[in-house]
Amino acid sequence: MKLHQVSENCFAVENEKNRVCDATSGLINLGGGVVIDTQSDLSHARQMIKLFGTVWPGMPKYVINTHEDGDHVWGNQLFEGAEIIAHRTIPDRMKEVADPTEMQHLLKGAEKIGAIHPGVLAIAQQLRQDYDFDGINLVLPTTLFDERYTLDLDGTKVHLIYVGACHQLGDTIVHVPKEGVVFAGDVIFNECTPNGWIGTYEKWLKCLDLIISLKPKVIVPGHGPMCGLEGATELKSYLEYVREESGRCFKKGLTSLEASKQIDLKKYGTWHAPARLYLNVERAYREFRKEPADAPWDKAKSFDLICEIAKARGIAAEF
Ligand SMILES: [Zn+2]
Repeated sequence: MKLHQVSENCFAVENEKNRVCDATSGLINLGGGVVIDTQSDLSHARQMIKLFGTVWPGMPKYVINTHEDGDHVWGNQLFEGAEIIAHRTIPDRMKEVADPTEMQHLLKGAEKIGAIHPGVLAIAQQLRQDYDFDGINLVLPTTLFDERYTLDLDGTKVHLIYVGACHQLGDTIVHVPKEGVVFAGDVIFNECTPNGWIGTYEKWLKCLDLIISLKPKVIVPGHGPMCGLEGATELKSYLEYVREESGRCFKKGLTSLEASKQIDLKKYGTWHAPARLYLNVERAYREFRKEPADAPWDKAKSFDLICEIAKARGIAAEF
């Protein structure tokens, strides 16, 4: 984990492997302090607190959760007394998608279901190398907002802007205009293959346009190294390219699995976990089939297919 100073008063810690669960946390070191996203497990959260502790005067007054996924909220319990701020949908969604006991069981019981779901075993084996989900209690946000929320930190305005659903229902970006910084959460994946669960291409592309229009000097992505505007434009090109290619395959009558094996990855093949392409192709297919943006995912099957696609392409099955 590495600490970055991204502006005069903004910092970030990055998990440099850039694999699944390797989320970034941010710090705005003003007005009592704001931490943005709290890591995937207690040991990573403690390490983040230690790194931010080298620049802050004490535990922060505020925590912001950019969305409901476990890798952004599972360290919340270590910020006792902080006001935790998030979009109104987040508490219910956290109970749905970020139940830590599910992850604990997944890591412990993967061998048992590995025969039926090799993808589940593969992701569990990868996660075990870095993560231990024991001891996590779900701590829900205490302050909820709808479209926008503004914090005033010693005269520096911090705007929370609801942009969902792009990657998840609760997607929120955090804009600090005076510092030229946007903390993007998982609407930006940098140098790794993005994926979305609830949401639409249209919303996601609109959100990337919004980020570009804010002209930040630095974007802190939810996953991957710090970037400038190119992080948003590159992701936009990827999403447009995958949606277009998926449309071509859909018209030819290919399944989303067949399409994911065939679509030319181009330069995106160098991003981490390129076979996660499947999730983006399938999402485009759902839209072509006019399915709702919150249609449930069979995650175990999706992980299996990612492994199958990686094998067909002769690349490592990574998440
Ligand atoms: Zn994430």
